Amino acid sequence: MTLSLTRLQTYYGDYEAEPLLRAMIKEEFRGSIALVSSFGADSALLVEMVARIDPNTPILFLETGKHFKETLEYVNYLEKHFGLTDLRRLVPDPELLRKVDADGELWKTQVNRCCWLRKVEPLNLVLNGGAFEAVITGRKRFQTQERKDIDNIELFNDGIFRVNPLAGWTKQDIHAEFDARGLPQHPLVAKGYPSIGCEPCTRAVKPGEDDRSGRWAHTVDMLDAKKEECGIHLQQGKVAQTDWNV
Ligand code: SF4
Repeated sequence: MTLSLTRLQTYYGDYEAEPLLRAMIKEEFRGSIALVSSFGADSALLVEMVARIDPNTPILFLETGKHFKETLEYVNYLEKHFGLTDLRRLVPDPELLRKVDADGELWKTQVNRCCWLRKVEPLNLVLNGGAFEAVITGRKRFQTQERKDIDNIELFNDGIFRVNPLAGWTKQDIHAEFDARGLPQHPLVAKGYPSIGCEPCTRAVKPGEDDRSGRWAHTVDMLDAKKEECGIHLQQGKVAQTDWNV
């Protein structure tokens, strides 16, 4: 059955995060929904909500080969802590890596192409395989310009729904919920990393700086505007191959 975005938004548009997740996982997309998680600073919140509802829900982690060792340890820790039974580590195509990024330094010169190779394509391969009608994301409106208008349910032009249970949450909401649930924090948060991606493209932030100022900071002089999105949750065509020059 093809689900209608209008119907889903009408039914669930004002649902709180956990009831929305329950409805999506247990009813609307039963057996055909996955959580995409970066296992970054805020990720434990959604992972815990999903695990409470069904720890067998597929969780997709993009193992780019460029993560901090702390992130990889955190992934392993949360997998056991929450009893996740279907955590999938998606890796880049090794043949493409050999051809395009043999020295592993593509992030210095062609940052969009590196994200494409290590994140967008591995996820696309899974999503285009047809196993999932919907994916859950941790995107919040406050994070970036690109995200400022996202709804809690979207339909992308790849035909796959994005469910964003935390779309309207603030930074303060998230911190409060972490405390209320006693969630384990990513170890780098305490070291000044409020937003965490791949190691070469993430730096700690100074007091008073925006949380995401440490992400892709090296692209300030490379692009017209600092890179803000890796591209996995952009509508198809928004990061074109022509962008690979940077
Ligand atoms: S975040 Fe940096 S290292 Fe990671 S895939 Fe993107 S450009 Fe490459």
